[in-house]
Amino acid sequence: MLQDLLQTQLMYLKGIGPDKAALLKKDLGLSTFEDLLYYFPFKYIDRSSVYKISELNEDLPYIQVAGKIEKIQEVGQQKGKRLVAHFRDETGVMELVWFQKAAVIKQYIKPGMEFLAFGRPVLFQNKFSIVHPELEKIEAHKDYSQIIRIKPIYSTSERMKRKGLDSGGLHVLIRGLLEKIGPELEEVFPESLLAKHQFLSRREAFYYIHFPDDFEKQKRANYRLKFEELFLVQYRILKLKNNRDRDIRGHIFDKVGNYFNTFYEKHLPFELTNAQKRVIREIRQDMKTGKQMNRLLQGDVGSGKTVVALMSMLLSLDNARQACLMAPTEILATQHYQNIIKLIDGLGLNVRLLTGSTKVRERKLIAEELQSGKLDILIGTHALLEEWVKFLGLGLVVIDEQHRFGVQQRAKLWGKGPIPPHILVMTATPIPRTLAMTLYGDLDISIIDELPVGRKTIQTKHYYESQRLAVFGFIKKELQSGRQVYIVYPLIEESETLDYNNLMAGFEAIEREFPRPEFHVGIVHGRMAAADKEFEMQRFKKGETNILVSTTVIEVGVDVPNASIMLIESAERFGLSQLHQLRGRVGRGANQSYCLLMTAYKLSSDASTRLKTMVQTSNGFEIAEVDLRLRGPGDLIGTQQSGLLNMRIADLSKDQAILQSARHAALELMNEDSELQKKENQALAAFIRDYEKSRPDWSIIS
Ligand code: ADP
Ligand code: MG
Repeated sequence: MLQDLLQTQLMYLKGIGPDKAALLKKDLGLSTFEDLLYYFPFKYIDRSSVYKISELNEDLPYIQVAGKIEKIQEVGQQKGKRLVAHFRDETGVMELVWFQKAAVIKQYIKPGMEFLAFGRPVLFQNKFSIVHPELEKIEAHKDYSQIIRIKPIYSTSERMKRKGLDSGGLHVLIRGLLEKIGPELEEVFPESLLAKHQFLSRREAFYYIHFPDDFEKQKRANYRLKFEELFLVQYRILKLKNNRDRDIRGHIFDKVGNYFNTFYEKHLPFELTNAQKRVIREIRQDMKTGKQMNRLLQGDVGSGKTVVALMSMLLSLDNARQACLMAPTEILATQHYQNIIKLIDGLGLNVRLLTGSTKVRERKLIAEELQSGKLDILIGTHALLEEWVKFLGLGLVVIDEQHRFGVQQRAKLWGKGPIPPHILVMTATPIPRTLAMTLYGDLDISIIDELPVGRKTIQTKHYYESQRLAVFGFIKKELQSGRQVYIVYPLIEESETLDYNNLMAGFEAIEREFPRPEFHVGIVHGRMAAADKEFEMQRFKKGETNILVSTTVIEVGVDVPNASIMLIESAERFGLSQLHQLRGRVGRGANQSYCLLMTAYKLSSDASTRLKTMVQTSNGFEIAEVDLRLRGPGDLIGTQQSGLLNMRIADLSKDQAILQSARHAALELMNEDSELQKKENQALAAFIRDYEKSRPDWSIIS
């Protein structure tokens, strides 16, 4: 059985004893045949053509040159000391250079010997050289047509190299492995899929990814294996959705009633954008069918998600079901609560707030009213998940600014009533499509891709420390015309004392620069008690403070339309999506707003890409794509869920097209043979079963 074979410990492969097996495990995390089979080269060296020295240029990748050693000498002093060999072919001469191990090298290469030298050519003092080339002796009788033309390179560790497990050593092991299991690697895709995509067979794919004859085959192997991996993920997630739609009945909200209509006609303070209208239609469509809605609502900061959430909740109430809204922090929950009671004032709805600091007496009241049905909307933090929070009939749960929450949390929400509520997850962190399809592939997705009319684009500028005076001057002018200002300091971990001290020093400096009684400066940070934070936020909202100095606690959701400047200190230390989130705190009112990024002179190249991106675009999706490229999928989403994104060969930051096509194939299969009962799908069905058994981390999303 292939599956048993694949699970065999590497120790039992020819050429690997217990020592090497331990090392493979320790340094590369490889323990089974399967692990090694999927340990792919990270690059290939083209040995298919031999360059002439006269053809060399600096843009070439790793190449090879055939020539003869002329003279060898040690040159330079101390750190610059090196061994240099003159290397000539019929078109010219170049240098081979070693900075280390000169003594050893000198034993092996002698004037007059002929070699193939591999490496990247660089131009140094008008001469081409290859530093630390790999050499292969040219022997008179060797048949060079047999030489490996494309050389795969596997990453290894220094320790492994010392034990003979360098890239070449691994290659030999993998050859042995493929000899052993190659014959068992049978096809898993049905004929039709193979034909449609002109895939290499599975066996060929594994063979050519490790031993490509030419780059064309290597590419096809790569494509097939990526497709396979992404297909499995997509199939799994779509199956989940399929089963849920089939097995779970949701509330049927077939009425659009008094609450919704009155709100729409009498209370809504503005015209909805077309995107908001479309999204509300999508939500209505879900809720009236009897399927249980699981929808992700993506919309950039300020795109107006709150009112969409509110109107969805009103639909729930029109159909005699309660609704709740959960936010990640107390500040946000409170703000939602205040906004919402203002918006629905006069509709006769009973809305309450539940957070960690809600008093016992209020809790009792909430518990009673939830049970009797007197409470219509409950807004709060994670406190909503507590055991005692039981609804008479919960119809809709809205979750704001929250990445996917786990099975347990979902189960807790579902347990709050006999029929699972509709679920609307909102996020202002646009998620690149590839990630969304993987992490949220089982959710329906709605996107608000349009800002309310009249919003001015926020002007974003990058300043260096030396321009601080000018920046402060500008801030002063804005303050004097009545605007308010955020100044944000990095505080990655709220417990980092150094950052905390910086923040406090910054706060004092700002107070000196903008002194009372003309100006009032407030401060908010994670070490403050919730009530104090809340107090400071409220003062800023009411305009009693002109400047709010803070850490990223104000990152999400906070809404003060009169604030027109966001000054971010040490902006190079923030992630791109965080910068974008922070910028979204301004530009909420009628005034032109500004985002000022203050940095040190020295910037890493990633940091300067981030800053440039911020200055150039305010489109959250574009920013998310750049962020994905810079950070990779794991970091972008947070470690919790990165298990889902651990791909063996596919790269979610690059393989969007393959992902799309794999998802499409998975969907087609689901439509044609959802239980995989057809004969031609049996191999695939077995393959999927094995795959799922080996991937327990999937449970996080079900
Ligand atoms: P977010 O999507 O970031 O949560 P909000 O829901 O907080 O955005 O909305 C941002 C601001 O825009 C709020 O002050 C809100 O009242 C306002 N707003 C929302 N929709 C519209 C609209 N269609 N026209 C004008 N203003 C709107
Ligand atoms: Mg919001």
